[in-house]
Amino acid sequence: MLINLSDILSKEGETQRVEAMVDMENFTSRLGTFPVQKKTPVHFTIKNKGKKVLQINGEGSLTLLIPCGRCLSDVPVEFVFDFEREVDMKQSEEERIKDLDESNYITGGNLDVEQLVYNEILINWPLRVLCKDDCKGICSHCGKNLNQGPCDCRVENLDPRMAVISDIFSKFKEV
Ligand SMILES: [Zn+2]
Ligand SMILES: [Zn+2]
Repeated sequence: MLINLSDILSKEGETQRVEAMVDMENFTSRLGTFPVQKKTPVHFTIKNKGKKVLQINGEGSLTLLIPCGRCLSDVPVEFVFDFEREVDMKQSEEERIKDLDESNYITGGNLDVEQLVYNEILINWPLRVLCKDDCKGICSHCGKNLNQGPCDCRVENLDPRMAVISDIFSKFKEV
């Protein structure tokens, strides 16, 4: 969703409140694509501070499904937004990008809600996502989720010499 800023820009000292829906269904970064599970509208308060400077505050939240770093099961991760930005609308888009390296959310006199929310998620991305602190992960041999119980790969994890013995035993059984 885009919020047209021309109205508030023409009224120095005034404040505009806007409730904006977030259209985003998936969040895609170099880490992959993550589905949006839940979202609330973002409540914006946009203040014209004079001299074409806008103060933008926003509050909202969005929940993504991110795979657990150990077992890969989906974990709901909530991002709560409560941000404040100041934008000088006198600057050209190029100047603004140089000043604040993430101000690409102002485009052609509009506030691009999707881009702003995207930036917020990127800034707040968790270092590590686990379904629970003691997640046992998956077996590197068979891929079984070990939180659901042990797998049958124990023999392969033994000392190679023991594996030879277990081969001998299985051959013995066939005779
Ligand atoms: Zn896990
Ligand atoms: Zn296994």
